[in-house]
Amino acid sequence: MTNLATMLAETATRHPDRPAVRLDGEVLTYRDLLHRASDVALSLAARDVRPGDRVGLVLPNVPAFPVVFFGVLLAGGVAVPMAPLLRSREIRYRLSDAEASLVVSDGPAMDQVTPAAGEVGVPALTVAELADTPGLLAPTPEGEVAELVERAGAIDATATALILYTSGTTGEPKGAELTHDNLRGNAELTAATVLECTEEDVIMGCLPLFHSFGLTCGLLAAVRTGASLTLIPRFDPGRALEVVERDRVTVFQGVPTMYGAMLNHPDRSGVDVSSLRTCISGGAAMPLELLSAFEDAFGCQILEGYGLSETSPVASFNHPDRPRKAGSIGTPVRGVRMRVVDDLGVELPDGEVGEIVIQGPNVMRGYWRRPEATEAAMPDGWLRTGDLARRDEDGFFHIVDRKKDLILRGGYNVYPREVEEACYEHPDVLEVAVVGVPHPELGEEVGAAVARKPGATVTEDELREFLRERVATYKYPRHLWFVPELPKGLTGKILRRAVRPPEN
Ligand code: AMP
Repeated sequence: MTNLATMLAETATRHPDRPAVRLDGEVLTYRDLLHRASDVALSLAARDVRPGDRVGLVLPNVPAFPVVFFGVLLAGGVAVPMAPLLRSREIRYRLSDAEASLVVSDGPAMDQVTPAAGEVGVPALTVAELADTPGLLAPTPEGEVAELVERAGAIDATATALILYTSGTTGEPKGAELTHDNLRGNAELTAATVLECTEEDVIMGCLPLFHSFGLTCGLLAAVRTGASLTLIPRFDPGRALEVVERDRVTVFQGVPTMYGAMLNHPDRSGVDVSSLRTCISGGAAMPLELLSAFEDAFGCQILEGYGLSETSPVASFNHPDRPRKAGSIGTPVRGVRMRVVDDLGVELPDGEVGEIVIQGPNVMRGYWRRPEATEAAMPDGWLRTGDLARRDEDGFFHIVDRKKDLILRGGYNVYPREVEEACYEHPDVLEVAVVGVPHPELGEEVGAAVARKPGATVTEDELREFLRERVATYKYPRHLWFVPELPKGLTGKILRRAVRPPEN
């Protein structure tokens, strides 16, 4: 059975000279990627990293990320990727929880990684230090690579390949344990049925590789098919546009804020984006206004999908070979089952709103060494997602909102997303987050933090009035305030929970 390490080896045999990853002028072919990953695997083995051992990986989107990632897998290890923006205590928590044997990082992140690793008592190495193992100064000879690949063939595809720290629906970060099968299957399916990807494709790698969306739909989908992944270390709309033109990117993937930032970028109209064949969005709800404005401007359809770190991540998509429904997250991908259930786990009829639960080959094995949290997340083998949705008569799912973001205003349920959608209809609005603001009688009142487009002039009162005409009286935001920018998570998703009303 193919595991992720042999998947790379197979592609390196089929397409040795095709570019696998690139960052500006730095290009690694599939042969280079396999060889460098082999160096890393041998170096890890020389440092006593054994099959099943966890290795921390704190790198931005640079070619060293896939090199170290596949090196860990070729050595039979488990990769534990972390965002390079994490602070030392956050890294320490993850290294200690995962009982990592070693951590690899580089650049400024080392300032946070080194003290964290010191406290946990594990070595912290830069990529150069890792490659500089005695005896490994020369590139690994073909024969040794072949031997390593043969040994990697014995890695059980049902074993854990990756531990991804995520907050899940509640509580402190927990490690979602994803197996080779989970990830390979999900990447293969996404590449074939959503991206319709071949070795001719150039995929934009502006989503972070330490997060499941960028890892599976970007890196792993590329490695599965022999496509090439062009990286940007950290998302920047101007740079993303430049790279689309320069590398003739065919497949773009991003969270909605990335599409918004590119659409509203001042240089956009001068950039040749005609190479784009397909765009996919996920990770957060894609506002309808943004979807159609982007499609008009870029001449390329956006397919929206849905998933979680715990589901590798892809669970549903608007498939390219079927009519799509804008504003919907599509239908479950092959082999995945999704239901809408009530609080007792009983399936609801179509049209009714309940929680999405998921079952399938993409669902994690569980949370790393947390049997209770695993049981709570999957009491009956179906993963509770914390996302509220309804299924329509055609089997398409429509996300209503996250369960925990629901605003309870004097006994009425207000779904923030609905109010946000109405707000995006105003041409001056760049981004918005609707949140509950504590209220002495009602419990919560509806509040909206809004970032305006550059040069926009709409006032708070005008926008409130605009919304009052568009949503029911109990839903329109009595509190509305402008912010220069909305708080975002490490993947670029708007973080509603970090939004606070101004004090006055
Ligand atoms: P993460 O585990 O960081 O990938 O976050 C997963 C969460 O992102 C899900 O539980 C949803 O709340 C949210 N999400 C993902 N895709 C969508 C989508 N298309 N629309 C709305 N929310 C989404």
